Amino acid sequence: MQDKEKEIRKLVDDLNKYSYYYHVLDSPIVSDADYDRDYYKLVDLEKETGIIFPDSPTQRVGDVVMSGFQKREHIVPLYSLDKAQNFEEFDSWANKVLADFPNTTFTVEYKFDGLQLAITYENGLLTQAATRGNGTIGEDITNQIKTIRTVPLSIPYKQKVVVNGEGIMLLSELEKYNKTSNEPLKNARNAVAGSIRNLDTKVTASRNLDFFAYGVPYIEGKKFGTQEELYQFLKDNKFLTADFFVVTKDLNVIHKTIEEIDEKREKLDILIDGLVVKVNEMNTRDFLGYTIRYPKWAIAYKFAPLEVTSVVRDVLWQVGRTGKITPLAIIDPVELAGATVKRATLNSFDDILRKKVGINALVFVRRSNEVIPEILGLAQKLEGFKEIEKPTICPSCGTALVQKGVLLVCPNNHNCPDQLKERMVHFCSRDAMNIEGLSDKIVDVLFEKLAIKTVDQIYTLKQEDLLALENFKDKKTNNLLLSIEKSKKIPFANFVYALGVPNVGIKTAKDLTKNFKTFESLTQATFEELQKIKDIGEVVAQSIVDFFADSQNQTIIKNLFDSGVSLIYKNDEKLNDKIVGKNFVLTGTLPTLSRSEATKLIEDAGGNVVSSVSKNTDFVLLGADPGTKYEKAKSLGIKIIDEQEFLALLN
Ligand code: NAD
Repeated sequence: MQDKEKEIRKLVDDLNKYSYYYHVLDSPIVSDADYDRDYYKLVDLEKETGIIFPDSPTQRVGDVVMSGFQKREHIVPLYSLDKAQNFEEFDSWANKVLADFPNTTFTVEYKFDGLQLAITYENGLLTQAATRGNGTIGEDITNQIKTIRTVPLSIPYKQKVVVNGEGIMLLSELEKYNKTSNEPLKNARNAVAGSIRNLDTKVTASRNLDFFAYGVPYIEGKKFGTQEELYQFLKDNKFLTADFFVVTKDLNVIHKTIEEIDEKREKLDILIDGLVVKVNEMNTRDFLGYTIRYPKWAIAYKFAPLEVTSVVRDVLWQVGRTGKITPLAIIDPVELAGATVKRATLNSFDDILRKKVGINALVFVRRSNEVIPEILGLAQKLEGFKEIEKPTICPSCGTALVQKGVLLVCPNNHNCPDQLKERMVHFCSRDAMNIEGLSDKIVDVLFEKLAIKTVDQIYTLKQEDLLALENFKDKKTNNLLLSIEKSKKIPFANFVYALGVPNVGIKTAKDLTKNFKTFESLTQATFEELQKIKDIGEVVAQSIVDFFADSQNQTIIKNLFDSGVSLIYKNDEKLNDKIVGKNFVLTGTLPTLSRSEATKLIEDAGGNVVSSVSKNTDFVLLGADPGTKYEKAKSLGIKIIDEQEFLALLN
């Protein structure tokens, strides 16, 4: 028992320390996932032993009220939320409610990961705003809140009312801010707290925050029957509410909603860490009541964390196709949203300095839309912390690096092995020449074993060269040669993109090809002509001029055309914007078109017909009695169309 008491004491001390860094300094030293793990360990131990220290975080709403702000007592207390982490925990809460109130309906809302605020209006005017604080007392942040555009300063409702909701920073705003700031903000939750609990209201105003309303804890002269009515009241009074709001009696609908939102949450511009399910009927809420920490009529379903901490052990420097050198952090393996993560990106050496990252640094790692998770910033320096040294020579070819703005660059463009390989990978990629089967691994083999060093040499590959390689049998060799041959007929824009002109992505390539009728005229364009094109600035214009003026690039381009590469121009009548460059797979028997007719229509319109379904397939054209391709397309979520839809696409 004594051991357990010691363990409980330590957990209370640790959690209170974490809360101090989180709530007072707005600079956490552990992830929420770590905090929650310790918190629930404490809850379990307190239940098991009955030992509850008076300063235990389980006995209060967690925020610390900061000195420097006027304290404000709330008219009615504001609460935290009870949590469920799986359907079982959620159902157990919901079924308890349903046992006593079988006709209950539930609302499902986003659980915004921001800062809870309560705003008071009297005579239709905003008179006061406060943070949730410890639930009873919050900080007066009236002046700060008035800088938020989505907080109405006056409302039609004239009697006294307190509206609560969440102050948040949209992820797009956070990204914009971090691009230019010397001190990047680690995440949207801490960013919003630091912006609102800031005595300088100019800082608050500059952060472009938003306020999403979700509650009315106090109102004079009105009673709501349901949360739905309450939401309508908020909308009528010009508050911003989330466009997501589900009302249902059915727990299965709630499960499905949870799964759907969990899947798409990374694409939302609002940081959410779960969904909140509330009892819709106010009468029922009155019966259910509150604990010291949370209402018994609501529960937060928490999603698995997208942000964890791990330790940086090494930093590798990688060379991109244009010579840009970027750091890649090697971190202790950590579970993050269902995958084990061992590497995380940093953008540049400058980014390392701004984020204060070093070897043996505990850092926050977040999964984003990108494949490789991103390091957000330092949590703590651990024993043995070492600053990361700025590289001076290229890790691939040893050439002295050059600083260009914030970027470190290897200037050895025509001979650096990694640059050449990366350029070849880019050349073969989907939006470029779209050479199926020429993966980065094969590029490596061709480079090392067959001395294929520049992109034009791909078209000199012979069957016997490939057959001499390990793992290359007849089928693989022939398929590869076939895709290389097929790639020769290529839309103008994709070819321009494939060349890998620095700063020219697929969109710029398309803009260029709209403005120049032929490839020839593009190569002769002057800086001034290029700059006149919408969205093309000085830097891009200069890279294009430099690229086409380079004699080695000229040789490569000439060789490509000599090998039979031919461009498809947009003014070819049959080309169809929706089909150019798209990959089609045919399966089953079509009602009217034969397979060869359909293939011709696709190819004439600028599309490709490929034999098997992969994630690179854009459309599966489905006929009667399809094969396994249909199942595969369904499992990969590829767009499946029938003949009628296909013909509509053509027109
Ligand atoms: P919480 O933030 O997890 O949940 C309660 C809050 O959710 C409410 O107070 C409200 O502000 C908000 N909310 C969002 N959408 C809502 C909606 N639609 N309806 C009602 N409320 C909504 O709990 P908490 O008690 O505020 O804070 C605990 C959190 O803080 C935990 O997630 C914990 O991990 C984190 N924390 C982290 C550290 C750290 O060091 N990393 C330290 C302390 C606390």
